[in-house]
Amino acid sequence: MFSRIKFPLVVSFAALFVSACATTPAGRKQVLLVGEGQMAEMGDASFNELKKKQVTSSDPEENRKVKCVTTALLKAMGENPSEWEIKVFKDPTPNAFALPGKNVGVHTGMMSLVANQDQLAAVIGHEIGHVLAHHGNERVSQGMLTQAGLQVADAVLGKNSKNDKYLMAALGMGAQVGILLPFSRKQETEADRLGLEYMAKAGFDPRQAPELWKLMKAKGGGGGPEFLSTHPSSDSRIADLSERAPGLMPAYESSQKAHCF
Ligand SMILES: [Zn+2]
Repeated sequence: MFSRIKFPLVVSFAALFVSACATTPAGRKQVLLVGEGQMAEMGDASFNELKKKQVTSSDPEENRKVKCVTTALLKAMGENPSEWEIKVFKDPTPNAFALPGKNVGVHTGMMSLVANQDQLAAVIGHEIGHVLAHHGNERVSQGMLTQAGLQVADAVLGKNSKNDKYLMAALGMGAQVGILLPFSRKQETEADRLGLEYMAKAGFDPRQAPELWKLMKAKGGGGGPEFLSTHPSSDSRIADLSERAPGLMPAYESSQKAHCF
């Protein structure tokens, strides 16, 4: 199907993409074809669109909890929290996401699902893990190389705004736009491991991460199917987190404990 790509499109691909071999924070090699500045622009645009479409929560307690947990995580990641935009969306589905351009969104449905601050930290740490490991860029880059990905490519190139939702799905908002485009198993495991490390350093109990995913799994039938389709709560995920959590106890024990709620 590459034969269908018109020459000018190929030229604009070449002009647009900086070919880059990068390494994720977890040490995996990856190919990133889109500039980080452009990824940030796309993430910001998607986040702004979502803010227009969805009602944000003005509940001060809910906002305080999400900000407190996210801020603690970002500090542990070496990020400057004031550069990040954090929003709580009024939506009963248990969902959360982070987008390039330093954006974090949490649904009110996630707030009612989690049993404690540590479980919320597990979710948000996982989502920010996807961003810091450039998984959205990797997905868009991989998408360029497939027929289905041409729709993503069109959206990136601004050729067809109808394809914007494919782009949003590639960035990790599949649940919001109704397109199932799960992160790869490799990316999911990586985000889990990064999230676990970040939460322990930030003063959240890493043993709560597998508990969160058990809760997600139990909730699977009611309210969370979209999120679970992009973030499958498999037994192997729960087993991997349970196995790794004890190794992060020393980091947790020597951290300054978080007291968000
Ligand atoms: Zn994920």
